[in-house]
Amino acid sequence: MEVFIVSLNVAFYTLGCKVNQYETEAIMEIFQQRGYNVVNYNSVADIYIINTCTVTGRGDAKSRALVRKALKKNENAIIVLTGCYPQAFLDEAMSIPGVDIITGTDERAGIVELVENCMRDRRKIVKVNDIRKNHRFEKLSVLRNRDRTRAYIKIEDGCDLYCTYCIVPYARGPVRSRPYDEIMHEVKRLADEGFKEVVLTGIHISSYGRDIGDVSLLDVLKGINNIDGIYRIRLSSLEPRILTEEFIKEIASLDKLCRFFHISLQSGCDETLKRMHRRYTTDEYRKIVCNLRKYIPEVGVATDIMVGFPGETDKEFEESYMFVKAMGFSHMHVFQYSPRRGTKAYGYTGQVEKRIKEERSKKMIELAEEMKVEFNKRFLGKTMDVLYENVTKDGFNEGLTDNYIRVLIRSENTLKNEMYKTKLLSLKGLDMIGEIV
Ligand code: SF4
Repeated sequence: MEVFIVSLNVAFYTLGCKVNQYETEAIMEIFQQRGYNVVNYNSVADIYIINTCTVTGRGDAKSRALVRKALKKNENAIIVLTGCYPQAFLDEAMSIPGVDIITGTDERAGIVELVENCMRDRRKIVKVNDIRKNHRFEKLSVLRNRDRTRAYIKIEDGCDLYCTYCIVPYARGPVRSRPYDEIMHEVKRLADEGFKEVVLTGIHISSYGRDIGDVSLLDVLKGINNIDGIYRIRLSSLEPRILTEEFIKEIASLDKLCRFFHISLQSGCDETLKRMHRRYTTDEYRKIVCNLRKYIPEVGVATDIMVGFPGETDKEFEESYMFVKAMGFSHMHVFQYSPRRGTKAYGYTGQVEKRIKEERSKKMIELAEEMKVEFNKRFLGKTMDVLYENVTKDGFNEGLTDNYIRVLIRSENTLKNEMYKTKLLSLKGLDMIGEIV
């Protein structure tokens, strides 16, 4: 007998990266198509769905706190825990009281059926598959829930690299690429809907195509570059090794590709990089950044840096700090190493004290801010295309240049999803004040 359900309230909470956000939006749409109302996570709902992140221990703790929060709102609600945390640490996820449904990082489209089964039988459901045996990209599309200027598109899932600190390959499985035609189809639809900017996202997009052969990330970029109505293409984080001189020359010729690249570094010390099992040296990385700056004028280069990896001595940290400083990144995300059970580095000797990690993190964050201001200063007085996105609480329209400078302007009108030539007049903290010319 089919259960027909209408007007139940479902609340979502997403932890972690853009891939998770994309997947939550896709799951949300499936629920809406089945007649559910999506409500805020702070509201009383019939179903709470937590899309988890397990990159750090803090993400796990937050997931547990979100379960408690949902139960406080409605002790009879159905609680769904999905995503990377249960996929990587099923034993822990199973031990959280009050969770009714546990799923991993695949078969997300089926969550709605699991919820309906659970409502009917009121039995706990655990459906976590062996993700390392999954070689199929799960088709999940986001069709409606977009209230932003930028549209994210997931083009890939999984990673095969097994850096020694990283739980992601265990949580996400091997590289699976979305078929080229499907990507083009979704981007064309987004262009028809009026989106000017698309962001290609995935767990390791540099590996795009490796599993399906005869198509690469470069092909995808070239294909999207030819789609009318799209003005900007952005990329999520890239693995340094994809950025060969040939590749950089090719992407430099794509007029819609934003001059902003996030190239994950993790450490500026070769010894630390080796222990992390990263597959490049600082010298190779330096050459990549030099080539980007040679072929792509005014390019913004961003990175991730980790502090307190096991065995990171004061000397190694200093080396990393000096390398980062020499690179002059326009953006930098700083992470403290978080031991993850199941990874190689978990068992390494020389775990770094929390206090030292915090000191190093603070120092790197200060450097990140200095570098960002230095980068922004170079653009004072210049006129650049800014795609406006939002109005801030203090009444500025805010938008981004293609090389990711955040620009604020005063304007009578709301300029959402409009691109204007804007003169950059002054610095405002880490942003810039501009005026439309
Ligand atoms: S490349 Fe390394 S850090 Fe990035 S997801 Fe893969 S294993 Fe994790």
